Amino acid sequence: MEVCRTVGALRAFVAERKALGHSVGLVPTMGALHQGHMSLVAAARSQNDDVIATIFVNPTQFGQQSDLDNYPRTEAADCAKLEAAGVAAVFIPNVEEMYPAGAETIVETTGLANMLHGLVRPGHFRGVCTVVTKLFNIAGADNAYFGEKDYQQLQVIRRMARDLFVPTRVHGVPTVREADGLAMSSRNVRLAPEDRKAAVVLSQSLAKAEEVAAQGGTVEAIDAVIRATINAEPRARLVGVDIVEALTLAPIAGIPQSDIGIMISAEFGPEDNTVLLIDQREIAK
Ligand code: AMP
Repeated sequence: MEVCRTVGALRAFVAERKALGHSVGLVPTMGALHQGHMSLVAAARSQNDDVIATIFVNPTQFGQQSDLDNYPRTEAADCAKLEAAGVAAVFIPNVEEMYPAGAETIVETTGLANMLHGLVRPGHFRGVCTVVTKLFNIAGADNAYFGEKDYQQLQVIRRMARDLFVPTRVHGVPTVREADGLAMSSRNVRLAPEDRKAAVVLSQSLAKAEEVAAQGGTVEAIDAVIRATINAEPRARLVGVDIVEALTLAPIAGIPQSDIGIMISAEFGPEDNTVLLIDQREIAK
């Protein structure tokens, strides 16, 4: 596996592979890789000749400096996993490489980014869109893979790619979970053992939501069962519950008339070292 640390090195690698007639799949990550990331790699491997993974903890998508500082960084272990999974090249730029002095251009979806999670994390999706656009332009991949776990992020990236005529095709990959149902996340390692146990309440609340929806329940009833379940766990601080029309993320009420997306977020741990976890479920009509 080739390790590229500069834009030029990755471009040269991709050009070499494309000259051989290979298709290229891109898997952007922030590292601290787990089986969720590896399922994106597996999807990319199954649909492309060569897979490029990227590891970059993107400062512009973090709100709190402490969250950025505390983000786990495990480069050697990550590279071993990627190599074992058959990745052809990994791109590991530093911040100056991605944001050279004088960089001032941002990419922003003006509607989708400024609702739901975007309201509690101002600027987050602008940071995501800006860095993903840079990665798309550097890699020139045929396909790119993103997790459904980050539900709003996936919709934002799809919209950005469509609006800007990005030639790379965007694919969503289902969420990979721990045995107890907790969605895998690089942030899970920061949970104290009691919080790790308590965090299962997120997926449990979604399972209850699914039951209510299956019985013909309203959006308000689904919302209520999620809130009651999470609020019953004293270690969880509920941040948001959003029940929306699946594709547009538009708010809905009453009995759902279309596929719905449910996005939830909760915080765990002490105020000065909070771990924000998210989960999601799409329920077909
Ligand atoms: P991150 O490193 O957290 O920025 O995630 C990189 C990519 O992996 C994003 O597209 C995420 O949606 C995806 N991802 C993270 N966790 C999971 C998971 N448990 N299952 C599937 N994909 C995931």
